[in-house]
Amino acid sequence: MIPAKYVSWGNAGSTIRELAAYGAARAKVIGAENVFDFTIGSPSVAPPESVLEKLRLLAADPDPVALHAYAPAAGIESVRCKVADYLNRSFGSSYDAGDIYMTHGSSSALALVCAALLSPGDEALALAPYFPEYRIYAEQTGAEFTEVLCDLESFRPDMAALEAKLTEKTALVIINSPNNPSGVVLDEDSVKEIAGLLRAKSAEYGHPIYILADEPYRELVYGGLTVPFIPSFYPDTLYCYSFSKSVSLPGERIGYIAMGKDMTDYADVKAAVCGAGRALGYICVSPMFQLAVADTLGDVSDISVYDDNRSLFYDELRKLGFTCIKPDGAFYLFIKAPDGDSRDFCRRAMEKDLLVVPGDDFGCPGFARIAYCVPMQRIVNSLPAFKALAEEYGL
Ligand code: PLP
Repeated sequence: MIPAKYVSWGNAGSTIRELAAYGAARAKVIGAENVFDFTIGSPSVAPPESVLEKLRLLAADPDPVALHAYAPAAGIESVRCKVADYLNRSFGSSYDAGDIYMTHGSSSALALVCAALLSPGDEALALAPYFPEYRIYAEQTGAEFTEVLCDLESFRPDMAALEAKLTEKTALVIINSPNNPSGVVLDEDSVKEIAGLLRAKSAEYGHPIYILADEPYRELVYGGLTVPFIPSFYPDTLYCYSFSKSVSLPGERIGYIAMGKDMTDYADVKAAVCGAGRALGYICVSPMFQLAVADTLGDVSDISVYDDNRSLFYDELRKLGFTCIKPDGAFYLFIKAPDGDSRDFCRRAMEKDLLVVPGDDFGCPGFARIAYCVPMQRIVNSLPAFKALAEEYGL
């Protein structure tokens, strides 16, 4: 029998991708320069030269059979070792190669962690707004997915709401900072508060509540901010990283999971991640890209481009009367729908060929996400359409 859940997820599709497909089709009709597509969070900046150079060298490898052979299921040992060393140098952790599992980007890391830690009857909880696929990764395991809305003024965690949603069934809390879509970066105090609460609740319930720290945007922060390393504050954290955003390699599908030795049931958690990898087929990430990132860890694309876009777009939208917090990280603005109806806001924007994504998809109705990882000229050219939209709402 064809499982109904897959049919329904397949039929539901992704609003972001549907809007982007609409934008591509519309561009053929009215010209790409007249479609202001702010839908997909795909980097607009080239990978760092160091990464490109490494890829050129690898591609010229005189032994193509070895380069293109199957990698070990969890990743190439030397690569895992370099990742562990890099994390230890950066954050004072004590990972070794065996604590790192190489993945096909953050998406497969998230799916693997959910599969490894969730059983039917468990609950996974995410702070909203959140990346829409979390729900599917959690529900796929038979667990329940619950969302906890952040404070809608600051987009910081609402600790009382979080506490109220934790139950004996909570097995996993998913945290994403810098956040897609709000751009908020969790500060150390917030991380400590969450860690304290989860520690107390784990003790009360008699089982660990793990954190999945989803951090594909770690390096995309502005104004000299640093992003707290959650495993340093809460050892029961599975740290998921991706090279999609920081070094602009979303198409190459490369990332990793790091699991610390001071984690509860460490050996079983690691085994479960490997077992989930086997069960789901998330094994043997491309050796070429593993080797490319391993020798360029810490290198980052030119994020000043995003910073300039962020300032320009934020300032202009505020001048037009829109409400939105200034993001500290990632490359999204999360703008308030003036009358609170985000789907209608996105529909009205679409009539002006402005493509933005309703916050409903991120568990946060009333807002819309604008991805500013685009050429700056697109932002400049879109401003008259945003002005017309603001006037329509009487701003
Ligand atoms: N997590 C977040 C918060 C994201 O925004 C994205 C992509 O936009 C992903 C995970 C998936 O990223 P990838 O699979 O490319 O690493």
